[in-house]
Amino acid sequence: QRFPVVIVGAGPAGLTIGNILRAASVDCLVLETETRRFIEQRPRAGVLEEWAVRGLEQRGLADTLLERAQRHTECEFRFAGERYRFAYGELTGVHHWVYPQQLLVTDLVREYVDVRGGAVRFGVRDVELHDLDTDRPSVSYTCPQTGRREVVHGDFVAGCDGARGVTRTALPADRAHISRSDYGVGWLALLAEAPPSSDCVLFGMHPNGFAGHMPRSAEVTRYYLECPPGDNPENWSHDRVWTELQQRLGANGAPPLTEGRLIEKRVLDMHNYVIEPMVFGRLFLAGDAAHLTAPIAAKGMNLALHDAFLLGDGLVAHLTKGDGTGLDGYSEACLGRVWDYQEFSHWLSEVYHGTSSGDPYRAGTTLARLRRIFGSSTAARAFAEQYLGKNADY
Ligand code: FAD
Repeated sequence: QRFPVVIVGAGPAGLTIGNILRAASVDCLVLETETRRFIEQRPRAGVLEEWAVRGLEQRGLADTLLERAQRHTECEFRFAGERYRFAYGELTGVHHWVYPQQLLVTDLVREYVDVRGGAVRFGVRDVELHDLDTDRPSVSYTCPQTGRREVVHGDFVAGCDGARGVTRTALPADRAHISRSDYGVGWLALLAEAPPSSDCVLFGMHPNGFAGHMPRSAEVTRYYLECPPGDNPENWSHDRVWTELQQRLGANGAPPLTEGRLIEKRVLDMHNYVIEPMVFGRLFLAGDAAHLTAPIAAKGMNLALHDAFLLGDGLVAHLTKGDGTGLDGYSEACLGRVWDYQEFSHWLSEVYHGTSSGDPYRAGTTLARLRRIFGSSTAARAFAEQYLGKNADY
């Protein structure tokens, strides 16, 4: 088998690249370990930045999203028993879009497979990459139906297999630099079968720990609770979860949260990494395969799309016009935004976790950061710009 581009991973990054290639009539094959049904139902992120939505729209990938996504223009910080609304939409004219990741993935698969006729193999096992530093790279995998090893040859391999994938491990240690950081806290990620308890995202800074409320749909709300790193989700009974959420997100004049059945409960490792450069020979990494940002600032899916736009366009330019400038500048162009978002996540992490750190100095500086956002229009604008993500011309 031979395809100009082999894409490993059918997440937001891989499927967006596949769609961009198919729109330019470039053949590609997507390899995915899970089933189509599974990826269409896997709940994760939900916040998309305005430039990312425009980027999808320009590539014909946002029709359903624009009909169904919610627009958010405000968020609310709750600390020291009070509520502080931050109206970023009014301040900047820019808003956030809330669209559950599984819906975006569903749209992208439908468009790639059913409309643009893209090739995909679901349920593959033991994916391995070969000859990446030659101009004839290949990818092998075990076919789920026959149990046989298959080999696909290509000109390029796009490594889009997320934080637990294999493509990243194909980079030789002496050619890739990995930077890591750990927030030293855990987050219990919850999905509740309950309508949102506010019209916007809520951040609770409380001595017991951070708590977050993120509307996902009329019926489902994502919540986060700071917990010890590596904590067992079974330590968090239904009653304990709701008691902590009510306490940490409670504030003067705020109605109690609407409680509901918990349909997801897992502890996230709150750590980050960045791989530089994101390219080795004919392998180009994109999304979480290249860089992870813990969901502190809701940046991961946005960065995956940013990489995908650049890589998809770069591959098309190279394969259809022989123009290699996009691919040559790919890693550097991605990493500018990656490091910007990493830095903001660190800044915001301190705001979220300083109050509960047990260190009065950190608690004091956290409050100073919050007061600055609400006391200075310059600080408010700077915060809004980072919170919403730099608007790029895509
Ligand atoms: P993925 O979505 O991980 O896709 C990778 C694909 O590759 C998967 O389908 C996987 O099954 C497949 N795969 C894995 N290994 C292999 C292999 N060996 N061979 C073939 N296929 C393989 N980001 C935001 O922007 N906003 C948010 O609000 C937000 N909230 C989040 C909440 C949670 C609980 C989590 C876990 C993440 C959140 N994120 C958020 C991050 C976001 O979900 C990721 O950044 C995003 O999914 C990255 O997309 P991707 O395409 O790079 O990788």
